[in-house]
Amino acid sequence: MSDPGEVRKALASWVGYLGDIGVRELSFGKAPAAPADSLVAIREHLGDCRRCKLCETRTNIVFGVGDPGAKLMIVGEGPGADEDAQGEPFVGRAGQKLDEMIRAIGLTREQVYIANVVKCRPPGNRDPEPDEVATCSPFLFRQIEAIAPKVIVALGSPATKTLLGTKSGITALRGKWGWFRGIPVMPTFHPAYLLRAYTVENRRLVFEDLKAARARIDEGP
Ligand code: URA
Repeated sequence: MSDPGEVRKALASWVGYLGDIGVRELSFGKAPAAPADSLVAIREHLGDCRRCKLCETRTNIVFGVGDPGAKLMIVGEGPGADEDAQGEPFVGRAGQKLDEMIRAIGLTREQVYIANVVKCRPPGNRDPEPDEVATCSPFLFRQIEAIAPKVIVALGSPATKTLLGTKSGITALRGKWGWFRGIPVMPTFHPAYLLRAYTVENRRLVFEDLKAARARIDEGP
């Protein structure tokens, strides 16, 4: 049927028929996006994970902690020895520094959500390897979709590279907004780096980055 008059008549008849059977509203928008998983469902799917070699040396899987409705999500690289022992991210020295950083922008650990790129400790605290990141990061991405934070702070190179899909390191990227699936990402120095290079300048830079993140959270919806 290519004649516009015929098409109009056929449509009018179809709409009339829908009206007769009680349809009062038609929507031609996009189908709604699939609902995000819950954190509980993601944790269940992770299970007693044996998907990569990090499982062989870990004690505990370190899934994530905090408010599932948090406006700010903080992403680190992977558990260290303390986190591996306790099953919670950022509980060692770097964790105490991170808590200070969070408090510096008027928030508490309980008000944010903290997770890592890999959920099991890389032996000797080495950086996670590409195959480990590729295997584990989909779980982080699902956590982000479930939480839907207003802002993400990426701590250090592995977190920044994973979220922004870039090869550039943290020195080039810190302080500059990037995006992860429509969510603004602020890369900043990892607290463990800050502890090693505890200069006035580095502390100032991290504070600036966190203040920018806080300001974005406080902007309207
Ligand atoms: N460093 C990280 O990147 N994550 C932790 O959980 C602890 C230290």
